Amino acid sequence: MTQSLSQAARVVRPTRPARPPRSDWSAELRDAVRSPHELCRLLELPAEYAEKAAGAAAAFPLVAPRSFVARMKKGDPSDPLLRQVLPLEKETTPDPTATLDPVGDLPATQAPGLLHKYAGRALLIAAPSCAVHCRYCFRRHFPYDAAPRGAEAWRPALDAIRSDRSLAEVILSGGDPLTLTDPALGRLIGELQQVPHLRRLRVHTRLPIVIPSRVTHGLLDTLCDGRLKPVVVVHANHANELCDEVATSLGKLARRGALLLNQAVLLRGVNDHAHALAELSERLVDLGVTPYYLHRLDRVAGASHFATPPGLGEELIATLRKRLPGYAVPRYVAEQPGEPSKTLLA
Ligand SMILES: *Cc1c(COP(=O)(O)O)cnc(C)c1O
Ligand code: SF4
Repeated sequence: MTQSLSQAARVVRPTRPARPPRSDWSAELRDAVRSPHELCRLLELPAEYAEKAAGAAAAFPLVAPRSFVARMKKGDPSDPLLRQVLPLEKETTPDPTATLDPVGDLPATQAPGLLHKYAGRALLIAAPSCAVHCRYCFRRHFPYDAAPRGAEAWRPALDAIRSDRSLAEVILSGGDPLTLTDPALGRLIGELQQVPHLRRLRVHTRLPIVIPSRVTHGLLDTLCDGRLKPVVVVHANHANELCDEVATSLGKLARRGALLLNQAVLLRGVNDHAHALAELSERLVDLGVTPYYLHRLDRVAGASHFATPPGLGEELIATLRKRLPGYAVPRYVAEQPGEPSKTLLA
């Protein structure tokens, strides 16, 4: 008896810190790959890719969650997921046609962190950071440091939302709003639930794709239990992003009544073929997600190498329309500063 107790004591005494449980999304967020050398090592790529990444990574650092990296093919520098996150020398080549604020976000700022461009909906920059750094991101130069942080800082934006009765929908964006903790998100959404003229709560997020464990019970309660109809717009560009864990997380959102949509960006070397786009649409529909927008690349400085030739997007959509049911064909759109909606290209 005495002996077995002391043995038990010996067994339970921790010898090193326990690994975080797999469902701990915030640990996954912190533990993301941030070094080009580590990324190349994990993917068995020559170190020269990491050396060439250094300059671009200094301007916009590499961030790639490990579960996303695990979906990449080893030894393949042109893997469509890797291309979205690996900094390249080309990003530092000046392009006189590209700008820092290609979509006119700064003039549309109504209150700190609140962008109001389109009738009936306003977009709140709810969080200053993302779980992944997409090299083509149109907000890669956004002055997040000037955007509000924390409950007090949202007050002017919330006041503007409360006093504008034309608004039916608030879009939480960022950065990625789901990098906020469940309690912080709960406080913000709690305030929005009480605004009588709002009908819908939309979230623009890449987290269910890149860290699917982010879809916790707490998040489902916060998003789906209130008065406002939840709309979750995820962002996947290639079918390989949609692994089984992602399917499970999206299924939970769908079962709780969220309308699920996807936006993708047309990216050279990632999804610029009819086959890739058709497979993305098919897989999204399998998972209960409607392909909503395919965005033309915004001409943001550092992303010009992702641009596709003029007319290709329109051609690809025409091909998809011949192959897929209408609901599986996304709208190909561009964002033009000063326009009252996204501009439909095809
Ligand atoms: C894209 C965008 C929206 C959403 O537009 P929808 O066409 O409703 O998806 C809303 N506000 C801003 C500032 C946007 O950039
Ligand atoms: S998740 Fe969205 S906002 Fe964040 S870097 Fe990617 S494209 Fe940009």
